[in-house]
This record gives sequence, C-alpha cells and structure tokens, in this order.
Amino acid sequence: MKDFEMTQTQLDTLMEGMKPTPMIALQCGQGRSTQERANDAWNRLGKEMGFDHYTARPNGKGDRFFTAESTVCKGIAIGDSNFSGCDASAGDCPECGK
Ligand SMILES: [Zn+2]
Repeated sequence: MKDFEMTQTQLDTLMEGMKPTPMIALQCGQGRSTQERANDAWNRLGKEMGFDHYTARPNGKGDRFFTAESTVCKGIAIGDSNFSGCDASAGDCPECGK
C-alpha cells in the first residue's frame, strides 16, 4: 500500500461526483445509487492518480489523504489482451501521459 494525497481540486471533484442526482437528471432513465456514483468518482480519481480505487482507505491524516494499492500503467491495449507497455518516463504514453 502507498500513501496518496489528492489536491483540493481533486477532492472537490470527488465530492461533486458523490452528490445525489438532481431530480431533473432522474427523468432520463434510472437514477444511479449513491454507492455507484461514489465508486465512479473514486474510479476516475484512481485512473488519474494511478491507484486501485477498490483498495483506497482513509489513513487518518485528513480528507485529502488515503492509502491505496498503486497500479502500474500497462500502456495502450493493442489487442488479444496485450498492452503496449509503459515505462512512465518518455512523457508520451497515451494512457497515463507519463
Ligand atoms: Zn502509461
């Protein structure tokens, strides 16, 4: 597990993503549960920061701090479950941007 610290902007985005769906949005089909929206919000943050959102846990340091299992970028999918690979150093990876 690794310690992560999200920025205030990321925290705001996360909180925004967890808000209950406004009534007007419910007119377009099924509303999503709070749990689903929270999962989505964490999933997006996990992709952005490189951690597995299922493993994210608060570590008691504050709202912006948590521990999670960091994920390694596999690069872009090139078919047959293969990935192009990524060394996170060239700065040109289309998947993670590193
Ligand atoms: Zn990458």
